[in-house]
Amino acid sequence: MAYMGATQFKAFQRCEAAALATLRGEWAEKKTVALLVGGYVDSYFSGELDQYKEEHPEIFSSRYPYGLKSEYKMADLIIERMKRDRLYMLLMSGRKQVIRTGFIAGVPFKIKIDCLLNAAQSKQVVEQFPETAIAMGMCDGAIVDQKLMANFDSVWSPEDQARIPFVEYWGYDTQGAIYQEIEGNMLPFIINAGTKEEEPNLCAFYVSDADLAAKLAEVEDLAPRYQAIKEGREEPRRCEHCAYCRATKRLRRIIDYKEVDFL
Ligand SMILES: [Zn+2]
Repeated sequence: MAYMGATQFKAFQRCEAAALATLRGEWAEKKTVALLVGGYVDSYFSGELDQYKEEHPEIFSSRYPYGLKSEYKMADLIIERMKRDRLYMLLMSGRKQVIRTGFIAGVPFKIKIDCLLNAAQSKQVVEQFPETAIAMGMCDGAIVDQKLMANFDSVWSPEDQARIPFVEYWGYDTQGAIYQEIEGNMLPFIINAGTKEEEPNLCAFYVSDADLAAKLAEVEDLAPRYQAIKEGREEPRRCEHCAYCRATKRLRRIIDYKEVDFL
């Protein structure tokens, strides 16, 4: 409640009413398996896997032969694949889970960077992999975010009536804009990603500074409204599509069945 974060901002973009209800503890967004698997892999890289296992008994099967559920065995395989890749591991060689706070358009933000590379580590990346120079920029450091994806395919966006890159669909460009601004040193934003395909894929992506700037403008535009909603100065809008809106919907009228597409 005290800070806006990238995840919270994106939740407000999807549905203001659901985001506020979640913050107030009136609505629980389902903890998806995908989220848990992502947390499992993150905890491996921050050296906290044992702790993660202790805190998440639900990742173990309750039936014989017990052990990790299949999704987490898969996560172990993805981790092994990541460890075999030199560049992937170099990009994960910085400080883990770095917390920073700051303001965007007067709104307090808090971020947690998966891996923050310093200047020396950035330089090492470019020395060993010269083709990364365009993404690494001035080698003052880099913000690395780790993602686990189903695959790297583009995703159908009903809003755009087109397939769009997964980075845009999941708002990772917005996340990058917030991270770059709050970190404050104009460091490149890199997504170090693996897939849950049977043979996991790996890729390192960057979001260009121009794209980050465009997304930051969007954040600057919207964050003050979301903050006002959090503080009760503005009424949240309902999207009327999400699970929260369906669960709290009250029928008020009887509609012509032909309108159903526009609900
Ligand atoms: Zn909604």
